[in-house]
Amino acid sequence: MWNNKLKAVTFSFDDGVTQDIRLIEMLDKYGLKATFNLNSAFFGSVDTSGRKDPRNKVRAEEVAKIYENHEIASHTLTHPYLTTLSDEDILYQISQDQNNLSELCGYDIVGLAYPGGGEKNNNAYVADFIRKNTSIKYARTITSTYGFGLPQDLLRLDPTIQIYEMDKMFELAERFIDLKPETPQIYYIWGHSYEFDLNDSWDNMEKFCEVISGHDDIFYGTNREVLLDSLF
Ligand SMILES: [Zn+2]
Repeated sequence: MWNNKLKAVTFSFDDGVTQDIRLIEMLDKYGLKATFNLNSAFFGSVDTSGRKDPRNKVRAEEVAKIYENHEIASHTLTHPYLTTLSDEDILYQISQDQNNLSELCGYDIVGLAYPGGGEKNNNAYVADFIRKNTSIKYARTITSTYGFGLPQDLLRLDPTIQIYEMDKMFELAERFIDLKPETPQIYYIWGHSYEFDLNDSWDNMEKFCEVISGHDDIFYGTNREVLLDSLF
């Protein structure tokens, strides 16, 4: 697995905002791989709020090109809390988004990021429902572990850390780079690319990419490559 390496780094970004384009240029420069979780009902929507971190969404016709070096996954059709929906609506929100995205990018969509913050983000019932009734193979939560252990349940996959904790991200990177593990370890980072606008952290993110990239003993892959293609 992972080309015979025991460490993997992967990224996950939600909401399909146009800042993804700048982020992807950076990731590509350093040979890093990410998964982008998209709401297909919102493609092309424009943020007129005037905020510092505009939430303009990518357009459907650009999706295949923008994300071509990375993985596209589902973030549901319209971003509801899945834990508040009927079974029928959960199925619709996920399957319809999978179909729309698949049509645009030309491959099967197997990943999901649960939409929405706080306690309503996910629960055991929804995870089991997704496991039994959809073709989703892994689903990411918003709960940071600050660790590198393998996920216990791929349908409730907890990330290591979110990008707004940039200082801690660097600390964990140092630890991860020094690690000589005997079992597989994953450094899993998630966020939204508009957070780099909000926190003026584009330069810091570039430094992070520089630090974490280029290590011979680390595999750099999309979520799918790290979690499915090579691990389980
Ligand atoms: Zn979201």
